[in-house]
Formats: sequence, structure tokens, C-alpha cells
Amino acid sequence: MAANKKLLILAGDGIGPEVMREVRRVIDWMSRRRMVSFDIAEELVGGASIDARGTPINDDTLQRARQADAILFGSVGGPKWERLGFQLRPELAILRLRKELDLFANLRPATVLNPLVNASTLKPEVVRGLDLMIVRESTGGIYFGEPRGIETLPSGEKRGFDTESYTTTEIERVARVAFELARKRKGHVTSVEKANVMQSGLFWRQTVTALHAQDFADLQLEHMYADNCAMQLVRNPRQFDVIVTSNIFGDLLSDLASMLTGSLGMLPSATLGSPDASGKRLALYEPIHGSAPDIAGKGIANPLAQLFSFAMLLRHSFGMEEDAALIEQAATNVLTSGLRTADIMAPGTAKVGTSVMGESILRELDKLAA
Ligand code: NAD
Repeated sequence: MAANKKLLILAGDGIGPEVMREVRRVIDWMSRRRMVSFDIAEELVGGASIDARGTPINDDTLQRARQADAILFGSVGGPKWERLGFQLRPELAILRLRKELDLFANLRPATVLNPLVNASTLKPEVVRGLDLMIVRESTGGIYFGEPRGIETLPSGEKRGFDTESYTTTEIERVARVAFELARKRKGHVTSVEKANVMQSGLFWRQTVTALHAQDFADLQLEHMYADNCAMQLVRNPRQFDVIVTSNIFGDLLSDLASMLTGSLGMLPSATLGSPDASGKRLALYEPIHGSAPDIAGKGIANPLAQLFSFAMLLRHSFGMEEDAALIEQAATNVLTSGLRTADIMAPGTAKVGTSVMGESILRELDKLAA
């Protein structure tokens, strides 16, 4: 058996536990068939934790998160907890995890699987084979910069303001993540800012350029203005490999890119922290989608975004590229065979629920590993 890997599972609310169940079955399969064992702990977060413990995430769970090698998160929230005040929202669980673990690099892949090429609103010839990664800085920039506020001017008129601000360290650490990813992919990084109209953008460009020259000169670096990047993502998204950008531009561009692929139920994400002295990097993996209260409990949720989040975890936290690719291939084969959950149904395909989708993937894994 390979060495134990400490995995913290936080399934959360709504469809979170439903889709996580299918991932657990894949983990069981891996320990049986691939001789990979995980040291798994499960904890309550979000509304489930509020009900049991009166807080969206308790200190003990945060401590376990710090000690884990990787965190697999489901989703939190739902109408049941909406009447609670701002300080007790289930969503605070994920915000606290990101803040206290200093998870600063948000990775959002946009991949178009062949069987789902028609699910995109763009023409198949534009998105077929799309495989890009957006790296968004997620703990700095204008969402956190000071000064910020709403003030009344001497004239009596009001003014609202925020501050975009990045230090060398903040830019370098996220750019480093992007370059390291590109090295394992096609070797091409596009750094996105507005250096033409923003000082912070100019500084971003200078800092990324210097880091590239110093440590990553073997890779291709391109700079692009954020407005042009939005246009290029729709015009010709396959020109990109890895995009690295600030918090606010990444927020917009990653939502845009995710829709190139068609379905919320398919999209994973990762948020990474800095490596410590031993090289261990705290990392949290979660689907893009929320707890989907409208379909929770019906057994119809698509488990693929959660499963692909687990594949990202294997790849980025444990270096298990082969196992990650095996899981992705099994899911692709199931989709190619014509099985679909309701959210990705297309004419000529067969509708299945969450657990049948999970079972089909296990069968496919058996075939691939035979
Ligand atoms: P949502 O992503 O939960 O759902 C949006 C739509 O997509 C719904 O119609 C839903 O049924 C569908 N959908 C989402 N995931 C699906 C899946 N795996 N399979 C099939 N269909 C799927 O977004 P929302 O409705 O805006 O938010 C619901 C709750 O989730 C809110 O409380 C929100 O705050 C929370 N939320 C949590 C996270 C998180 O935990 N990181 C992220 C987003 C939203």
C-alpha cells in the first residue's frame, strides 16, 4: 500500500453529501484496485454544522483542515439558514477556510469533453478540445484593499471607493503557481491586467515579467489586457493554456470561461496556499456549483464536478496524475456511452440519477483497470 494521505472531507449541505457519496465509492474502488489508501476524516460544515454546533465551522475542524494534506469540500447553504444573520451564514465556512489557511491561488479549469461539445452556447468548432486553466489571485486586490468605503464629500455629494493594490510577494506567489502549472501542461502563460490604464496593472506586468526571466524563461509568457482577454475567450478560447490574473479580473473571466463548457454540474476548482518548509501546500478542492436546494434529496444531482474536484486533488496535491486521468477517462467514457444526469441531457441520451452515474463510472473504472 502507498503511504497514507490525510484527506479531510467536508460534504456540507444540500446536494453536497449526495455527490460526495459517489466520490467515496471511487475512493473505495481505488483502495481495492489501485492499492492507494487514504487516511480520511469527515467533518460537518455549513448549515449542517450550524444545526449541530451553532457555528458554520468550528475551530477543531479548522485545525484538522490545517493538518490535512488536502481538503475535499462539497457545498454549503440553503433556504433553511437564510433567515440567520450575516455572521452565521453557512457560506462563512468556506470564507473562513480560505482566509485562515491563506489559500490565495484559485484554479478553475475550463475543459470541454467531446461528448458534451454541444452543451456549450458557442459553436462546437470553437470549443472542441478546449482545455484551459484560469489561475485567479483570491486573497488580495480590490476586494480587500484599503482604503475602501462610502463617504460624504464637503459638497454633500457621496462617493464610494475601493483600492486595487498588490505587493511583489502577492503577485509572485500566484504567478509562480501559474508557471509551475504551465510547465506540466503546454508551457504557455497569459498574464492578464490593465497595464494601459492602471498603475497596479503596470506593476503586475513588470513583476510577472521579472519572475519569468528569473525562474521560468523556458516557458512562453504573453501579456494581455483584461478586456481583450474577455473577447479572446469567446472568439478563440483554445489559444490559451494557463491564464493568471488578479482577484477581480479572475472573478469575471473564470465565470465567463466556465460557461464555455456548458454545465455547472461538471466544473471543479482548487484553491492553493503556499508550500511550507517541507514542500507541503494546503489546498482545498470543490465544485463550482452550490448546494442546489431545488434538487437536493431527489437523487438527480450530477456528481461529476465533485468527482473532477477529487481528480484535481489527486493531481495537484498528491502528484497522482495517472489515477486522476483514469477517473476523468472513466467519466468521459460513461458520457460517450450516452448516459447523462438531467442537467446535461441532450436528445438521444439516457437520463440517469446520481447513484447510477456513480455506479457506471465504477464499472468503467473496472474496465479501464482490467
Ligand atoms: P447552485 O449552484 O446551488 O444552483 C444553481 C442551479 O444549478 C440550480 O438550478 C441547481 O439545481 C443547478 N445545479 C447546481 N449543481 C448541480 C449539479 N451538481 N447537478 C445538477 N444541477 C446542479 O447555486 P444557487 O442556487 O445560487 O445557490 C444555492 C445555495 O448554494 C445558496 O445557499 C448559495 O449561497 C450556495 N452556494 C454555495 C457555494 C459553495 O458552497 N462554495 C457556491 C455557490 C453557491
